Amino acid sequence: MLHIESLRAEVDGKEILKGLSLDVPAGEVHAIMGPNGAGKSTLSYVLTGRSGYDVTGGTATLDGEDLLALDPSERAAKGVFLSFQYPLEIPGVPALTFIRTSMNAQRKARGEAEISAPAFLKLAREHAAALKIDFEMLKRALNVGFSGGEKKRMEIFQMAMLAPRFLILDETDSGLDIDALKIVSEGVNAMRSPDRGMLVITHYQRLLDYIKPDKVHVLAGGRIVATGGPDLALELEREGYDKYARAA
Ligand code: ADP
Ligand code: MG
Ligand code: MG
Repeated sequence: MLHIESLRAEVDGKEILKGLSLDVPAGEVHAIMGPNGAGKSTLSYVLTGRSGYDVTGGTATLDGEDLLALDPSERAAKGVFLSFQYPLEIPGVPALTFIRTSMNAQRKARGEAEISAPAFLKLAREHAAALKIDFEMLKRALNVGFSGGEKKRMEIFQMAMLAPRFLILDETDSGLDIDALKIVSEGVNAMRSPDRGMLVITHYQRLLDYIKPDKVHVLAGGRIVATGGPDLALELEREGYDKYARAA
């Protein structure tokens, strides 16, 4: 599924990713942990094509297709979805309108017809019920005045509606209380599927008590410096990143 080889990238002329290699097969959930400033967010931005992040070497492919050659909307149409630490607020645009517009843009880019209004509403009602979201909330401006927990629920709702092929969660657990953490985790776990891959980026082990990763990678100094099973996350929680930060 996702194959990254010797990826190098810089921001403002400063090299942040320094030959990063990583494979996430379809059906698996991989966690990336690492100290602050290691380049975790940079990796998620490079994969989604955010401007200002310049790739200077290496490759990143999704199902064999060169991701780095596509513009951000084309990557979204291929099903790459990034969940931010701080979701956007969009005044004046109801959440449902925003999601329907995104969905149709992606369908159009794939050469598919727009979803009909009744089919969209049916899908929205089903997912809202499953996530215990009040349907009235979906008519309000996206995220404006939403609590932290409501924003997370909305993020999971968007994910469920768009059904991305590859999901990247960048420190989506930061600042969440335990109830919100459970909502996010249950939503993410419900999206596990044999043809979907996920990259869960986190600074803390806590999230991985709820989202059980198949593999855990340590990102330090712009490279993956260690890979293991869920036990590696527990070791990092106990012993910190010093050993890896020094090695990098
Ligand atoms: P992490 O997510 O692992 O905490 P980041 O990817 O956010 O790390 O940052 C990696 C490094 O890149 C840090 O040293 C950070 O200061 C630097 N960096 C990130 N974004 C920018 C930017 N827009 N301009 C300059 N430096 C940046
Ligand atoms: Mg950080
Ligand atoms: Mg970050």
